[in-house]
Amino acid sequence: MGKNIAVFLDRDGTINEEVGYLDDLAKIKIIPTAFEAIRLINAIGMKTVVITNQAGVARGLFSEEFVNTTHEFLRDILSKENAFIDGFYYCPHHPTEGIGHYRQACDCRKPAAGMLLRAADDLNIDLSRSFIVGDRYNDMEAGRSVGAKCILVKTGFGQSLLQDDGPDRPTDKNRPDFIAADILEAVQWILKGVK
Ligand SMILES: [Mg+2]
Ligand SMILES: [Zn+2]
Repeated sequence: MGKNIAVFLDRDGTINEEVGYLDDLAKIKIIPTAFEAIRLINAIGMKTVVITNQAGVARGLFSEEFVNTTHEFLRDILSKENAFIDGFYYCPHHPTEGIGHYRQACDCRKPAAGMLLRAADDLNIDLSRSFIVGDRYNDMEAGRSVGAKCILVKTGFGQSLLQDDGPDRPTDKNRPDFIAADILEAVQWILKGVK
């Protein structure tokens, strides 16, 4: 049987608006075009996989249980609009901050590719034919390191990344293949390449 293609989606700033540490369900605002974008991925038969760094856990701002609750909540609002997520993966760690085992240089915090590799195993995904959509260079680097195509969205931190002259400049490791206004434009670009 052939392997699946996935569209990996960053969460904060890509599916829902960036609000700093998301520690309260009341703060969740879905970016309006996300519903349509996810429906399009579902319709073409690609896997829709959310991968998100949640260092707020390591920092003691919220629990892993809260992250799971948040993902059930997201799954609910999205599926009410017929937009379905095949898997949620999160990294609760931080390399230098936090308590107990949460403080570690793990293999899952983006730009590392651990979450992508785990999902590829669980869902039989061909990473080299897959895509990642996110609002930070971390997302691009994670995707690029496994041979996926990378799309930077201008929602969340995306717009400011593109404006700033800061240290966060694109390099050969994290350069996006395409820059999109938002998740919907990103998915439309993906689908153009498939047809
Ligand atoms: Mg983000
Ligand atoms: Zn981790």
